[in-house]
Amino acid sequence: MKGKCLIFSAPSGSGKSTIVQWLTSEHPELNLVFSISATSRPPRGTEQHGVEYFFLTPEEFKAKIEANEFLEYEEVYTDRYYGTLKSQIESELEQGKNVIFDIDIKGGINVKKHFGERALSLFIQPPGVEELRRRLVGRGTDTAEQIEIRLAKAEYEMSFASEFDKIIVNDDLDAAKAETLKAISEFLNKN
Ligand code: 5GP
Repeated sequence: MKGKCLIFSAPSGSGKSTIVQWLTSEHPELNLVFSISATSRPPRGTEQHGVEYFFLTPEEFKAKIEANEFLEYEEVYTDRYYGTLKSQIESELEQGKNVIFDIDIKGGINVKKHFGERALSLFIQPPGVEELRRRLVGRGTDTAEQIEIRLAKAEYEMSFASEFDKIIVNDDLDAAKAETLKAISEFLNKN
């Protein structure tokens, strides 16, 4: 049987990646695999080609856009492209794997449109802008100005929550994990 798609999108600082990593490491029975996206940004830290992303030059990325090789792509930041390669996803689904997408909001909405009933789209929502500010300050990786830019973006992004199949409010991580697991298990057990 062909696999299904699980789409995770969220404003930044929502805890989305923590939940996704927990699912893939602690729940092998769900038969999950990450969708590895392509990007034209350079690798950070220990990131490797074919592990976190397929790292392409902007020229290589644009050539693949021309060749219609992407299921969806976005210019998330100026001259920074991110996209999902059709070839990558199809082979995983054919093998019966359930593919997790950790993807920006527009991309998430597009992937859901493409797969319809074969996909469950989840919006991981931080509790509110003030709490998000507190978390970003606590994380200590952004300047005050960057934090304000991120918050403005988050506020805008939260307006898309209703376009997703399910909203998971992450004000308590354990509760959010449990709610996510329940939603996914039900979806995967359905025909
Ligand atoms: P980062 O550079 O921090 O790895 O990712 C930046 C943003 O790009 C995140 O919001 C991430 O969800 C988004 N992203 C990663 N892969 C894809 C993709 O294949 N398509 C789209 N539309 N966004 C992606």
